[in-house]
Amino acid sequence: MQHQKIKGLVIRETNFGEANRYITVLTEQGIKIEVLCKNARNSRLSAAIRIFCFSEFTLYQKNDKYTLNDAMLLHSFWGVTQNVEIYALSCYFAECVTALTESTEHQPQITKLILYALRAISEQKREQKLVKAAFELKIMAICGFAPDLSICGACLKPIEGQVYFSVREGVIIDESCKNRIGKGDFVALSSGTYQAMKYILSKEKIFAFTLGQDSLNQLSIICEQYMLYHLARGFASLDFYKTLF
Ligand SMILES: [Zn+2]
Repeated sequence: MQHQKIKGLVIRETNFGEANRYITVLTEQGIKIEVLCKNARNSRLSAAIRIFCFSEFTLYQKNDKYTLNDAMLLHSFWGVTQNVEIYALSCYFAECVTALTESTEHQPQITKLILYALRAISEQKREQKLVKAAFELKIMAICGFAPDLSICGACLKPIEGQVYFSVREGVIIDESCKNRIGKGDFVALSSGTYQAMKYILSKEKIFAFTLGQDSLNQLSIICEQYMLYHLARGFASLDFYKTLF
């Protein structure tokens, strides 16, 4: 048995038996591990092993099984549970991260992204719609599904003037190529939406921008469609989040 300390965020919890709990932890290094916590409900540890706690866990590892020995809370995003919309959105972020991380491949950028997103929505300084859209586009980019927004995907020249984007193709084209190719599924991006997408893809502090309401609505639709289409799946937590509006 190996004994080790790991810092990470609890992204899922499942109680079972009298007082036992399984938690899924996204580690600082961006891998996802399952940890068995015995006597979780009565234990002094319980404050550090709830969903959306960022803690330091002392674990016993045997093969790929982890058992909790000790835990110390470093930061709690428990504030996100105080509002049903924020909690539902946090659960959606956690479900996305659960779907896109593994137990072997290190993706520290994903851990950074969800911590940054939870902080942004719990502080309520940014619109939920903006945080959600930026999170969706950025996590896709981190996982290798970034759309190419640098040049026209048809003639490969830089675009001046109106930009059209295809969710399915993940490329932009210019006016003349759009007229040549036909309508397809290309939509005209507002300049605000286009700039916001480029900003999200190129920056680390991806929520630090503002956008007019029309562009924000377009960004929101495009980023969600982009993620769902390219992952070819839905999310129960997203369906629930949408029932709240
Ligand atoms: Zn072109």
